[in-house]
Amino acid sequence: MFIDYQEFARRADSIRSAIAAAAQQAGRDPSEVELLPVTKTHPAVAADYVARYGLHGVGENRVQEGVEKRAQTSTAASPLRWELIGHLQSNKAKLAAQHFDRIQSVDSDKLIQHLGRAATELGKTLPVLLQINAGNDPAKFGAEIAHAPRLLDAALAQKYLQVDGLMTIAPLGSNAAETTAHAARTFTTLRLLRDDLAARYRLPLRELSMGMTGDFAIAIASGSTMVRVGTALFGPREAAPAP
Ligand SMILES: *Cc1c(COP(=O)(O)O)cnc(C)c1O
Repeated sequence: MFIDYQEFARRADSIRSAIAAAAQQAGRDPSEVELLPVTKTHPAVAADYVARYGLHGVGENRVQEGVEKRAQTSTAASPLRWELIGHLQSNKAKLAAQHFDRIQSVDSDKLIQHLGRAATELGKTLPVLLQINAGNDPAKFGAEIAHAPRLLDAALAQKYLQVDGLMTIAPLGSNAAETTAHAARTFTTLRLLRDDLAARYRLPLRELSMGMTGDFAIAIASGSTMVRVGTALFGPREAAPAP
């Protein structure tokens, strides 16, 4: 059985405290770090909990699941931003542009062309993040670091795309210490890349979406502005969704 709202609120309180503690330890203002609950594989009521609690958005990793869930959520709750955080195939770009408020997983020229065309047809400015494989993990999606400038050029050439920043997922290690080391290295790399691009292009690129249940404190120490948390809020997912 899925958790009830009280349980969700307890967990959200505790994660928000941990976020605040990590921010303070890093000398940062906790309000600079947004908690994005990841509702993938969970029922639509998960998104209603998020709205009722007063958070502003949710992350989904599959287009179809997100579209269906969004349609099932209560409209009485405050409006949520729906963010796509999972790999997006070009042939689903139009559907994603229609139903999501931001796409965090933009990692190829081809996808940028498709999203740009879809947003133009919809006459809607679509915020995006560029997903960078900052940990050089062969198992992860995301553009290579060296391709980031080319990707940014391509996105900036699209009138209806708005680049808010960068996103990454850290590679897992074979043990906890290695995972921590990978995470620290990956997140610092992404922040330095952002700082470099922001200076060269004279853009804010404010959003650094990095950190999940297992590594959000490390991500906050490295400058994360958005942590994407699923398991710690909603419990384990039954089956890992196909990419
Ligand atoms: C599933 C997912 C998350 C959340 O992971 P947890 O470990 O459950 O917090 C974050 N980001 C992406 C891209 C995901 O697919």
